[in-house]
Amino acid sequence: MLHIGCHLSSSNGFEAMGQTALSIGADTFQFFTRNPRGGKAKEIDPQDAQNLCKLMQAHHFAPIIAHAPYTLNPASADPKIRDFALMTFADDLKRMEYVPGNLYNFHPGSHVGQGIEKGIELIIDVLNRILDPKQHTTVLLETMSGKGSEIGSKFDELKRIMDGVKHNQLLGVCLDTCHVSDAGYSLVKLDETLAMFDKQIGLPLLKAVHLNDSLNPPGAHKDRHACIGEGTIGTKTLATVINHPALKQLPFCLETPNDLAGYAREIKLLRGLYKE
Ligand code: FE
Ligand code: FE
Ligand code: ZN
Repeated sequence: MLHIGCHLSSSNGFEAMGQTALSIGADTFQFFTRNPRGGKAKEIDPQDAQNLCKLMQAHHFAPIIAHAPYTLNPASADPKIRDFALMTFADDLKRMEYVPGNLYNFHPGSHVGQGIEKGIELIIDVLNRILDPKQHTTVLLETMSGKGSEIGSKFDELKRIMDGVKHNQLLGVCLDTCHVSDAGYSLVKLDETLAMFDKQIGLPLLKAVHLNDSLNPPGAHKDRHACIGEGTIGTKTLATVINHPALKQLPFCLETPNDLAGYAREIKLLRGLYKE
């Protein structure tokens, strides 16, 4: 069974996202925990959260992914910006306890000129302050395209962050197909890329996949998503991603430039390409 969904708006609450997912043939989804630019989060309605948990159980959903605001930068040189990232992450993780057993994905950050070493050190520090061994959420580091001074476009950088974190049993990785292609990892040679991932991080730590085509050629370090089959990766290669034995049981999440009808079409297309 292919577990697939897409990024959804969270403006009508948890249960509404579950219903929307069902209406487009999805059995997982992703949402921003708050305004992606990092504003204040809406109050959580515990009943609404519980209704989503029930819906997910009844319809055999795969884990869902909460995405941290992408403008947060735990690797910033400015302590005020790091503090803001810390407070937001901590608050998000507290809120995720209303929907236990799911995933929280974040962009590791940009070192903005301080160098990779310093950036990694700052990200580790933030993770060591926010992770609570009693939490029920797995925190995912997303593989990045390497635009600007982004950290996490090399598997080795993600591994170094994870190695520095005390409670790293709570960490995992989300592989974004657009980002890894832009970072220069080949999806055509998927076996080689996954062997590298396995050697440097370990495939059991891969917990989710963002399934996107890319507007730019491999190694471009740009991070511009394209609809499935409309980019430089292509439908054929993305079909090998969803069918790879090391990946095929993971939740796949589309972040393609689509409206709901477009997402429904892509989900249907990919379900048709999946080999049980
Ligand atoms: Fe992301
Ligand atoms: Fe992504
Ligand atoms: Zn992206």
